[in-house]
Amino acid sequence: MSFDPIRKDLQALRVTPHLVDHEQARAAHSWEAVRAELQGLPGGGLNLAHEAVDRHASGARADHLALRWLGKDGTVRDLSYADMAQGSTRFANVLRALGVAKGERVFALMGRVPELYFAALGTLKNVSVFCPLFSQFGPEPVWQRLNRGDAKVLVTTQVLYEKKVAALRERLPALQFILLADAEDDLDATVRSLPRLMAAASDTFTIPPTSPEDMALLHFTSGTTGMPKGAVHVHQAALTHFATGRYVLDLHPEDVFWCTADPGWVTGTSYGIFAPFLHGVTNLVDEADFDAERWYRILEQQKVTVWYTAPTAIRRLMRVPGEPRAQHDLSALRLIHSVGEPLNPEAVVWGQRALGLPIHDNWWQTETGGIMIANYAAMDIRPGSMGKPLPGIDAVIVKRGEHGIEEITQPDVEGELALKPGWPSMFRAYLHDEARYAKCFVNGWYLSGDLAKRDADGYFWFVGRADDIIKTSGHMVGPFEVESALMEHPAVAEAGVIGKPDPLIGELVKAFVVLKPGNAANDELRLDLIGFARKRLGPAVAPKEIAFVESLPKTRSGKIMRRLLKSRELGLPEGDLSTLEND
Ligand code: ATP
Ligand code: MG
Repeated sequence: MSFDPIRKDLQALRVTPHLVDHEQARAAHSWEAVRAELQGLPGGGLNLAHEAVDRHASGARADHLALRWLGKDGTVRDLSYADMAQGSTRFANVLRALGVAKGERVFALMGRVPELYFAALGTLKNVSVFCPLFSQFGPEPVWQRLNRGDAKVLVTTQVLYEKKVAALRERLPALQFILLADAEDDLDATVRSLPRLMAAASDTFTIPPTSPEDMALLHFTSGTTGMPKGAVHVHQAALTHFATGRYVLDLHPEDVFWCTADPGWVTGTSYGIFAPFLHGVTNLVDEADFDAERWYRILEQQKVTVWYTAPTAIRRLMRVPGEPRAQHDLSALRLIHSVGEPLNPEAVVWGQRALGLPIHDNWWQTETGGIMIANYAAMDIRPGSMGKPLPGIDAVIVKRGEHGIEEITQPDVEGELALKPGWPSMFRAYLHDEARYAKCFVNGWYLSGDLAKRDADGYFWFVGRADDIIKTSGHMVGPFEVESALMEHPAVAEAGVIGKPDPLIGELVKAFVVLKPGNAANDELRLDLIGFARKRLGPAVAPKEIAFVESLPKTRSGKIMRRLLKSRELGLPEGDLSTLEND
């Protein structure tokens, strides 16, 4: 079934979007013009942290609320742009005093607490490299990343240090300092109290010369398809964060912005730190994990205006019975965005009905550093589509052939999604893996590894990850299409679809289905679901087998791990499980 477009009435939007005419904005765009809106360092150069906080702290927005932190226990901590500049300056001085040099890696392993944000920005001021880790990683994934990323400093907490790092120290000879964010005293000469160091640090710091091409961030990918890769990003990425904050998030000075992603994932830094700060808006950080009631309460009480979340969270909200707007005043909210996985059309439409606003899907990757394709506030939404490429981004659909790649220009034909290199936040390397990096580029294009198609009006549609595509009876089937069809059934909360080798038809489409509360998993429902999917998808594409499961294996960032559904189904080795969510 295809969903009706969601039309936008510009007059009805509360705030006139920055981007109104997509084509015209694309034609008018230049990265030089974006650069000219940033300040740069005295004497030249560009430093991401200077642009994100110091620029505001020394200007009219010094006292504007930069970060409102909501603690798990109900504590609220408010930090202005001046406070953010001061905290990050002190952290930069701490690094300098410890002899941490330009380009050296500073890792963070901690929950979403203000110190994490000081550490991120302070590391960048020192022109060292920030690498955030998700705090719920176990010791082995932590070790792997610290080791592969050449960590010199780790900022963490006492409990996380004891539980996950202390025993690894011998295997991490390059790790010189551990800074404990919640320890009053030093443990020894290498395990230090961060509050003590911060208290002794000066409030002035001159950012050393920073080239836009200096390495700023190291981000490990989500590990959805295999071993996580370490993507290297540079200070110049600020231009993409700024531009996408304007074009896509549509940030305006009085916005209260909430990105629900953890900084351990790229969304949680590009959009949980940089884009909102570059725009000088109020950035909300919630320390707690997902909880539907808490989230609705935050949206209401904090008067969130622009909200950036993920399909996995939206699907969880969709499962909660009741009408959110009957219980909560969500009237401050004016824009909802989603990234990380395909957003089922059902979810876009649910947003419109249940929250009063459609959900704007956008597409990007750790490698792209920022949003590349998006549904814009002023643009009609075609539910299920990722939207259109950003001004400054050239995206095409290609097929691989004997002589490299060839662009597919006809509409609605599936192929690999490719981008023209040169946007500011493009990754500059996979750390310690030059060969793999080189393989991403063919004939002057970056190949994303995702399959997609473009319709006649220029909307892009996600088909699937190249690794997940199912080949059945001569058809290429993207799991997303099948999952979305199943989700239209009232009993289905979530589905994961794989191809299972079959001697007759190549691969057989198999669906793993999580039911909404109150539905019994039985043969009758199984047949009903197969019939339902056949009607929507046709017999060739509809699943032939359905298994009911309690939950789907997901990455800690909430992505369905189809490779794991498949290896478990086939009794094959499970591969890298470092990002598997197992609680
Ligand atoms: P790994 O590369 O380690 O397997 P990953 O690709 O999941 O993990 P990320 O960089 O976090 O790591 O995720 C980017 C991928 O997420 C994209 O390549 C795409 O497959 C998927 N994705 C992100 N946004 C969307 C979207 N809006 N629609 C469909 N897929 C999306
Ligand atoms: Mg990837």
